[in-house]
Amino acid sequence: MAGDMTTKDGRPFDRAQLESLMKRRLFYTPSFDIYGGVSGLYDYGPPGCALTNNIVDIWRKHFVLKENMLEVDCTMLTPYEVLKTSGHVDKFADWMCKDPKTGEIFRADHLVEEVLESRLKGDKEARGEKVEEKEEDPKKKKKKVKNIAAVKLEDAVVQEYEEILAKIDNYNGEELGLLMKKYDIKNPATNGELLPPVAFNLMFQTSIGPSSNLPGYLRPETAQGQFLNFAKLLEFNQQSMPFASASIGKSFRNEISPRAGLLRVREFLMAEIEHFVDPEGGKKHPFFEEVKDVELELLNRDVQLAGKTHVETTKIGKAVKTGLVDNETLGYFLARIQLFLLRIGADPKKIRFRQHMANEMAHYAADCWDAELLTSYGWIECVGCADRSAYDLSVHMKKTGAPLMVREPRKEPLKIEEWQVDIDKKKFGPKFKKDGKTVEAAIESLTQDLREKLSLDLEKEGKIVVDVPSVGSGKVEVPKELIAIEKRTRVENVREYTPNVIEPSFGIGRLVYALCEHSYWARAEDEARGVLSFPPTVAPTKVLIVPLSSHGDFKPFVRTLSNALQDIGISSRVDDSGASIGKRYARNDELGTPLGITIDFQSVKDNTFTLRDRDSTKQVRSSLDKICKAISSLVNGTEQWSDVAARLPAFEGQDVD
Ligand code: AMP
Repeated sequence: MAGDMTTKDGRPFDRAQLESLMKRRLFYTPSFDIYGGVSGLYDYGPPGCALTNNIVDIWRKHFVLKENMLEVDCTMLTPYEVLKTSGHVDKFADWMCKDPKTGEIFRADHLVEEVLESRLKGDKEARGEKVEEKEEDPKKKKKKVKNIAAVKLEDAVVQEYEEILAKIDNYNGEELGLLMKKYDIKNPATNGELLPPVAFNLMFQTSIGPSSNLPGYLRPETAQGQFLNFAKLLEFNQQSMPFASASIGKSFRNEISPRAGLLRVREFLMAEIEHFVDPEGGKKHPFFEEVKDVELELLNRDVQLAGKTHVETTKIGKAVKTGLVDNETLGYFLARIQLFLLRIGADPKKIRFRQHMANEMAHYAADCWDAELLTSYGWIECVGCADRSAYDLSVHMKKTGAPLMVREPRKEPLKIEEWQVDIDKKKFGPKFKKDGKTVEAAIESLTQDLREKLSLDLEKEGKIVVDVPSVGSGKVEVPKELIAIEKRTRVENVREYTPNVIEPSFGIGRLVYALCEHSYWARAEDEARGVLSFPPTVAPTKVLIVPLSSHGDFKPFVRTLSNALQDIGISSRVDDSGASIGKRYARNDELGTPLGITIDFQSVKDNTFTLRDRDSTKQVRSSLDKICKAISSLVNGTEQWSDVAARLPAFEGQDVD
């Protein structure tokens, strides 16, 4: 749980310290700060931008490049019709409840969660157990005081609370309302009664164009743009299946009560993949073999429904074989997501995959898993990975008539025995007049079973009766002069199907924040100053250049080094301030700069420099050329510091003051 958070050196994690570092060093800052800010909106400063860009860059290499995905960049402004068809207008909502006296609004599931968690904490305190304080927004702390009172609960109640918390994502509005009644959950600040939960749509509405007659929304996900372009992408891919599209861009959600800094915001960068796969044949993936031995920590839905949260370490090959993970393609992406998370530096002990429970999943989804990262705010969904079946393509095709499907020549022609209907159109029109088309459509949509039954009626009674709700009494008689129903064999040379979609969906802002928590620690000799141990590939700035002093002899070397690094595309910063070398390195530890080059008097003599590793503070000494090569391989991830330290001579000289 959140209270157990420790840094990589095993000490308790201090969120306030990290957040203050991130704001002070301008990783991010509240938007419109000098106007008082707006909750849930943040700006990124230079290190935040660089970190984000580096994560996105690795994402592109890991997914788009590796699998030749087709990247698209679609508009954020989306017309009403599109999101009505996709179901977002009706269903993309969270449950909120209002305090009618104060006007305050709470997100119902979060409120239940917070109140039960703080009661459990109060119980622990009353039992004399050690409770790790979970840092909260100071504004919120006041509200929670009432619930944190050290009150002992009955054992059965503790168990009930724990069970509810384990499946908190599975409750709908009505169920949350019942829980609030049963457990007497009120406004934590005033103890005032709350109104029952109501659905609140999370999309930001707008209108497109000056006449305001084209309503629209800011997109809540990048997925819809990818679906709408499916036919063009398939064509681009020379009709070859399976394939994936990918998109990186901002999405917008009008969160009820944004909290937890960068974790729940109203505008955020998403990176999404839509992998289109043939639903026949078990949704196999051509590269599944490559990942089948990847081990994941899986928290399955049955465990959660039983009110528990223990994970099982399982090879993805086994999880797919036993049916725990629905199919190979979904399993392939879960494994690839884990490899990506490790590549950007997530702590392997703080990653788990949680399966959605039935109510939590969209009704059309076949299976869905979230990659969650452990942070001081608890386990946070950073990547969702859902099998969306054929839902999105089907609804858009139905609405627009666009062929969002695959047509494939069959290897062997398929012979199909079926009941076919022939309508005599010359007689049909005059008989049914304006209703002709509706009646015809109703007949065309009859199932095979009904056609078979009606063929018997036609033979026996010389007519059939068809249900057409919008015409007359709703029953229409069609005499045998107008229609024939016969069993025939049809040969199909082309197969048509709507692909299913597996969708890994990444929230880049959440990854940035979680990664900062996972990478943060403090050196024993200076606990006030943090270190962010980002892998060199991810670090915002790769190299710090430090001349030993402001001596004029060092200046040309600073320029030479900066130019040499720029030439190989590596970012660097120069710190030629008067502070001691140790202090200058410590300042850059906070930015997560993994490497430092020192220019000293020996550099002036023999053109060699020292290269320092942030985490171990060890140094090597070598020529400019060799140092640049080492930096390049460290930043590309082809070498580790231990490799560099093994091949270049160690330097024991001038580090700290
Ligand atoms: P979802 O479509 O709800 O599964 O969200 C996909 C991903 O977007 C999640 O895994 C998160 O990483 C991210 N995400 C969703 N909502 C937010 C939010 N309010 N703030 C930041 N990231 C979010």
